[in-house]
Amino acid sequence: MTEHADILVVAPHPDDIEFGAAGAIARLIQEGKQAVYILCTSGDKGTSDRGITPEQLAAIREREQQAAAQLIGVREVVFLRYPDQGLEDSPAFRKDIVRLIRRFRPETVMTCDPYHRYVYHRDHRIAGQAVLDAVFPFARDYHAYPDLIQEGLEPHKVRELLFWASDDINYRCDITPAFDLKLGALRCHDSQVRELGIQDLDTWLRSRCSEMAGGEPFELAEAFHRTLLPL
Ligand SMILES: [Zn+2]
Repeated sequence: MTEHADILVVAPHPDDIEFGAAGAIARLIQEGKQAVYILCTSGDKGTSDRGITPEQLAAIREREQQAAAQLIGVREVVFLRYPDQGLEDSPAFRKDIVRLIRRFRPETVMTCDPYHRYVYHRDHRIAGQAVLDAVFPFARDYHAYPDLIQEGLEPHKVRELLFWASDDINYRCDITPAFDLKLGALRCHDSQVRELGIQDLDTWLRSRCSEMAGGEPFELAEAFHRTLLPL
């Protein structure tokens, strides 16, 4: 049984990946890479509909996330089920992320940029920070978690970090061939797309991705801050 995934994507809420990175992930999957999604919360507070309970919303959003992942060929989605708007940069949360990094042993980890200024969802700031710390140094160091070693989860060095929603963009990924997949994946999040009140999602997303191409010789992009980790 192989657990290895080339790409581990860690998101605070269902739909964050589809807004930020699903085009780039779809392209990597088309190249033969294996991707796994980790959802920190199930987005149980993401509605203005007072008639729906947080539990009902979480169940809907997990189904939407599964459908979006399936559409682009993601191998597995792991739900950690922390409370929406309740992420804390705690030792327990960081250890959960380390455990998954050591289990899947990815070359690339993708998440949201914790340093995005100013108005920014707290869960995004906290998740980005916890993932960055989990990658380096906690997943790498043998003595960080003696109990994880006992569980057979050996240290692991991630090679590359890609942050979406960054103020400091240094990598633009050509998603032109995968735009329809990104759009389709975003449409799976019906409960959220309705909340946005966007009339024409295709046009809206196309113009956003065109802006993110930022003068590169391709039409549509997702933009990231990319960091390589020391070997
Ligand atoms: Zn979010």
